[in-house]
Amino acid sequence: MDFGTNLWRNGELIKSKEAKISLINHALHYGSGVFEGIRCYKTERGTAVFRLKEHMERLHYSASVLEIKIPHTVEALSHATLEVLAANKLESGYIRPVACFGENKMGLNPHGADIEVFIAAWAWGKYLSDDPITVGTSPWIRIHPKSLQADAKINGHYVNSIMSSQWASNNNYQEALLLDYNGNLAEGPGENLFIIKDGVMYTPKLGTILNGITRSTIMQLAVDELGVKTVEKTLVPEDLLNADEAFFTGTAAEVTILKSIDGSQIGDQSNDISNKLKQLYADVVEGRVSKYDDWLSYV
Ligand code: PMP
Repeated sequence: MDFGTNLWRNGELIKSKEAKISLINHALHYGSGVFEGIRCYKTERGTAVFRLKEHMERLHYSASVLEIKIPHTVEALSHATLEVLAANKLESGYIRPVACFGENKMGLNPHGADIEVFIAAWAWGKYLSDDPITVGTSPWIRIHPKSLQADAKINGHYVNSIMSSQWASNNNYQEALLLDYNGNLAEGPGENLFIIKDGVMYTPKLGTILNGITRSTIMQLAVDELGVKTVEKTLVPEDLLNADEAFFTGTAAEVTILKSIDGSQIGDQSNDISNKLKQLYADVVEGRVSKYDDWLSYV
């Protein structure tokens, strides 16, 4: 896989092939880093990054949770992202900023470790299928909010997502769904969950899930463009089983409709509202709806 010719590291553009890290790196040993996943799209006005500022703000938020002091502002990181995209001549793709504890310290207290910040960008197509997907309920529950801060995008948290993804794939599901510690619906390994029942959209409330940027985008588009309100509340597995429609949202997954849960088909699969939102999201990220142009940062 080609991960992009150039990347930005600690303030400068370098060749990705020349980017080396020591094996004695705090984040490599303990998962002590934070990251983002951002997409850029080909638009009529050139390549545009979707909600770049919000992603870099979340990177800073996640870093503050882990006490990583990122020595670059949100604006500087946003500017650096556009530089990488230009250098890599990417029309559309995926952007991966990482900030982590690096070298010069071992042991669990990272105090004193170097801070490493980099931004890579490469071409990456669909993450999940464009067609509705089969989903299975993971035996691994979503991380407990009293063990870890669930709304921070910390590298180490993702072992929970990796285990769930492996379980789904080993059990012939296209994606996993994680419940929270109370057995309520939480989210996918890298996606937030929405269900639709009798024309109302529901999504698990914050607390055990990531505060997804696509999640908030979809809630706004649904109400402003379709007049569909979202209720954020505790949802139980039966709510999904009895839903008319269900979909995942995420930067990588965009809007991915669920076909079934644990082998049971969801609704009649006409997916009227979900399909409208899926199309609307594509129109917005690809710059076809001028009203939302503020969400796009052009290279
Ligand atoms: N939940 C988890 C656990 C994720 O990793 C992601 C991907 N960042 C999401 C939800 C969706 O978040 P976003 O829409 O901000 O990409």
